[in-house]
Amino acid sequence: MDLIGSVRDFRVACEKARNGGFSVGFVPTMGALHGGHEALLRSAREECGFVAISIFVNPLQFTSAQDLATYPRSLKTDLATAEAHGVDAVFAPDEDEMYPGGPPEVFVDPGPLGDRLEGVSRPGHFRAVLTVVAKLLNMVGPSNAYFGEKDAQQLALVRRMVASLDFQVTVVACPTVRDPDGLALSSRNARLSTEQRRAAPVLFEALSDAATRVRQGERSADVLRAEIARLIGSERLGRIDYVAVVDDESWEEITTVQGPARALAAARFGDVRLIDNLALPTGQGPASMQNKDG
Ligand code: AMP
Repeated sequence: MDLIGSVRDFRVACEKARNGGFSVGFVPTMGALHGGHEALLRSAREECGFVAISIFVNPLQFTSAQDLATYPRSLKTDLATAEAHGVDAVFAPDEDEMYPGGPPEVFVDPGPLGDRLEGVSRPGHFRAVLTVVAKLLNMVGPSNAYFGEKDAQQLALVRRMVASLDFQVTVVACPTVRDPDGLALSSRNARLSTEQRRAAPVLFEALSDAATRVRQGERSADVLRAEIARLIGSERLGRIDYVAVVDDESWEEITTVQGPARALAAARFGDVRLIDNLALPTGQGPASMQNKDG
């Protein structure tokens, strides 16, 4: 496994793999690798001849200086994790390497979806995410790039960018990996106190409750949003940021669940902000097969 710090060397390593006839699988991350990242690596390893991972805490996508300062960093254990998953190349650049001379002058515009949901609390976040993902895809030239459903809005925006700008890559979505109590794995979970950690699964419980209601016949998105908010609100340590029920294609808020839909929620536990989402069953066939998030 090669540990690479320069854009040039990373480009060369990926090019060499492609020229050698290998399909290249790419997993972009911010490090502090956990079971969610590992699932992405596993898929990439199964499906591709050469696997590259990037580990870069992109300062431009943080809207809170405190969040950036406290974001967990653990390169040494991350390298061991990558090695254990048979990764071929780890790209871990510093900020100057990614942004020589400071932030770029040209950014990728995520369009209107970039300003909604996560974009409300984190203005400019998706513009910075898409820009760094575009840079990385241009360095790697992968056949497949792997993203988690955990960050569903990010995944949707990456898909839109790839379609709009004709990137030659297949975006592969991986289901959300959760702790046994339902909490979606996240690098930020490490910052929860014991009490907050005990409270945090309420996000998943509220979203699962909405999925159950749909399975039982509820079709009103207003009722679902209200119930999700009520459940999260019943947890003393959680403060809701937003609750949404959207069409899974257009990402517009819906009034009635009649096709593929997704429930999303964001809440703060102390100063740790967590997000989660769940595909809602569409009511056409066994729910267990439709709820891609399991
Ligand atoms: P991050 O390091 O947080 O930027 O995440 C890197 C990639 O891992 C993104 O595509 C995330 O959606 C994905 N990811 C993070 N947490 C999970 C999870 N619990 N399950 C599946 N994928 C995840």
